[in-house]
Amino acid sequence: MVSTSTANDMITEEPSSPRQIPRLTRRLTGFLPNEIKSIDTMIPLKSRALWNKHQVKKFTDGEDFQDRFIDHVETTLARSLYNCDDLAAYEATSMSIRDNLIIDWNKTQQKFTTRDPKRVYYLSLEFLMGRALDNALINMDIKDEETKDSTGDSNNTEKPKEDSRKVISGALDELGFKLEDVLEQEPDAGLGNGGLGRLAACFVDSMATENIPAWGYGLRYQYGIFAQKIIDGYQVETPDYWLNFGNAWEIERNEVQIPVTFYGYVDRPESKSSTLEPAQWIGSERVLAVAYDFPVPGFKTNNVNNLRLWQARPTTEFDFAKFNSGDYKNSVAQQQRAESITACLYPNDNFEQGKELRLKQQYFWCAASLHDIVRRFKKSKRPWSEFPDQIAIQLNDTHPTLAIVELQRVLVDSEKLDWHEAWDIVTHTFSYTNHTVMQEALEKWPISLFGHLLPRHLEIIYDINWFFLKDVAKKFPKDMDLLSRISIIEESNSERQIRMAFLAIVGSHKVNGVAELHSELIKTTIFADFVKFYGPSKFVNVTNGITPRRWLKQANPKLAALISKTLNDPNEDYLLNMANLTELSKFVDNKDFQKEWDEVKLHNKIRLADLIKKLNDGVDIIDREHINETLFDIQVKRIHEYKRQQMNIFGVIYRYLAMKTMLENGAAIEEVAKKFPRKVSIFGGKSAPGYYMAKLIIKLINSVAEVVNNDPEIEDLLKVFFIPEYNVSKAEIIIPASDLSEHISTAGTEASGTSNMKFVMNGGLIIGTVDGANVEITREIGEDNIFLFGNLSENVEELRYNHQVHTQDLPADLEKVLEYVANGTFSPENPNEFKPLVDGIKHHGDYYLVSDDFDSYIATQELVDQVFHENKDEWLKKSILSVANIGFFSSDRCIEEYADTIWNVEPVKN
Ligand SMILES: *Cc1c(COP(=O)(O)O)cnc(C)c1O
Repeated sequence: MVSTSTANDMITEEPSSPRQIPRLTRRLTGFLPNEIKSIDTMIPLKSRALWNKHQVKKFTDGEDFQDRFIDHVETTLARSLYNCDDLAAYEATSMSIRDNLIIDWNKTQQKFTTRDPKRVYYLSLEFLMGRALDNALINMDIKDEETKDSTGDSNNTEKPKEDSRKVISGALDELGFKLEDVLEQEPDAGLGNGGLGRLAACFVDSMATENIPAWGYGLRYQYGIFAQKIIDGYQVETPDYWLNFGNAWEIERNEVQIPVTFYGYVDRPESKSSTLEPAQWIGSERVLAVAYDFPVPGFKTNNVNNLRLWQARPTTEFDFAKFNSGDYKNSVAQQQRAESITACLYPNDNFEQGKELRLKQQYFWCAASLHDIVRRFKKSKRPWSEFPDQIAIQLNDTHPTLAIVELQRVLVDSEKLDWHEAWDIVTHTFSYTNHTVMQEALEKWPISLFGHLLPRHLEIIYDINWFFLKDVAKKFPKDMDLLSRISIIEESNSERQIRMAFLAIVGSHKVNGVAELHSELIKTTIFADFVKFYGPSKFVNVTNGITPRRWLKQANPKLAALISKTLNDPNEDYLLNMANLTELSKFVDNKDFQKEWDEVKLHNKIRLADLIKKLNDGVDIIDREHINETLFDIQVKRIHEYKRQQMNIFGVIYRYLAMKTMLENGAAIEEVAKKFPRKVSIFGGKSAPGYYMAKLIIKLINSVAEVVNNDPEIEDLLKVFFIPEYNVSKAEIIIPASDLSEHISTAGTEASGTSNMKFVMNGGLIIGTVDGANVEITREIGEDNIFLFGNLSENVEELRYNHQVHTQDLPADLEKVLEYVANGTFSPENPNEFKPLVDGIKHHGDYYLVSDDFDSYIATQELVDQVFHENKDEWLKKSILSVANIGFFSSDRCIEEYADTIWNVEPVKN
């Protein structure tokens, strides 16, 4: 049956007894954050001149920095010359740099307040920021005060700007510290799982750089993504308490505390029985959202944007009933529960679990963020109708979809707007980014769980759905099947669920995918009915991008320097205008340039080999003498069956077995080396803690490494290494070192991928499937410069169907590999250990089509070997041309597209 019932019907279906729910002992009003008094009433006029005289100044050279540094060591840290270790030096450096940032940040925010432009709010449950210090150094213009002209714009200086990294490095050197060691002290801000969270981090960087008035909103998890240890080849998760030594990059805003309520019931006057009328939600649990602000600097601009992360804290109210009955301990315990809301990040990538605490996190974050946004809007005293002209809110996946419902609730229940007027404002404000077509990743919430936590929001969702389905029914009368397919409420045989993606579509004015192929796929598969109803123009594509500041300049300083020299661009303008990279094509045949290019890569490969040695307890597995002729083949990303690390390791096994067979048949090692030249296969990535198959893949990789790396017969021709704890700071070392990287997802499953872009930007070539952004990367850099293979997404459905209906013969090479995986060659103490991986392919339908793509994968790997080992010049040319044409994938381009086509916002220059 199709649910066209309004929320009122629902209430009678699922009676909840208001009387059982305790009323809170104090009303909400006591907890509203104190508005900061306007400056006119706070500081007397006569005092202001004095304030201006004392205005804080940024430090502008190394010596001023040293002053600031020592100040912080001695006062902020209460340490001295005698007990300042690297960690203290890191903290003092960070706080000194932060001082400069905050001055610009204040100016930026004041500018936005006075000019009151349209603003963007980017809502993301994940921001995978990595480290902040090196990034801040890159963005810092140390000669700022002296060189800037009267407009305050520091862009048009004559002489090349000094590299602040060099200045600070020199200043630290004089103080007795190495910048390198100081940078190493910083823990990663790992507030995300993978690509989705890193995308949000690249976006805030680009929004700041592009002078877009934008804030990010997220959660300040006490524990970010777990730290991965590899013990006996298995992934072991340990807590990541990244705040252990405090965090120099955040500003705790105790003055911004927003009450957020949960549970309870809906109160409405007898006369107003319709759920469309204002109602009062009486919550039975209340926590405070406290703001923590992270300054986000732009590159070559004084613009510093804000990333606001919320942390849950108990309110100071307490349960008098419990207190009076002597149950003090229990009332304290209940208070402590508040903090659990932001305690940890859910460690699933592309998978939704449907846990209540997760929903609680989502509402906590949406409610606090919207309260903040609405409060800021109300200061402008504009009419509500102007809300969408002043504010664009971007939803990074469906995680913040509740913000749509919350805004409708605030407008109807608190601001007393008419339902339809409110809904018009809501739908013109929000837009939604989809990140996946995979069913298991689409968010759905059971009605009962949802209604218990958020009773008023459930009513509102029913009403949104009712009006929506009414419109659908009007346009397509009598198509009951369409109504049930398109309904926000899924009627399944077990329990009704809210389809969050559908709610996000209905509540937004634009929906985008993240690469062309993906944006087309969502229109023809999961959202096809919505295209039928709304027409195609609501669905757009914005291909993902990455920030070249972090992923080129910061991760690969040697390549950045070579590019800057070659382009005769000492100010590194190309980092803002990546189309300038095309100039590199002119040098593609220049032997000296090729040599320099190759030397940069060698330097980065040595840097990675050093890291691997360190992670391998000081044992070097890479043959240093032949490092330049060793192909570094890298696959680093979350471990997931759809990303097919299993196919990669099967390929490694194939190679190993083939080498062994040659040797057994009497071939000399030189012959083997000719067929299978030197290669290191490097893996890295975390598996979700509950994802059995992914964890088994990690174990298989480590078991294969154990056998292959310790087989003297193959000498050093093949090595395998799994890098534990893949994160942003590791990525910055790993990515610049790749000759080849693997982006080999089953066609149609990887929405975009962003590490593919990072690798190419660093001169690595790709072996990949025709999936996600690989398609557009190919278009940009040319099909001669990428190694594509495998079936196309349009054939996936049929191939899967074939696996279901009849068992097919596997390719002989794969069959042999699976035989060895199943017979315990790599797990002698537990021969059946890897059988589930084999069975998945042989007996359970091979959902990810490893058997269909294996042969072309192996053939393409052989082609890779040929070019790398027999035609290195050709390889270098491919590498140079790839970088020359990767400019499109700057997240600056991406943000400009969002700004123009979705947000309708303009940059605010100084
Ligand atoms: C870029 C990045 C990702 C995303 O990688 P994909 O290959 O696109 O899935 C994941 N983790 C980290 C640390 C990254 O920097």
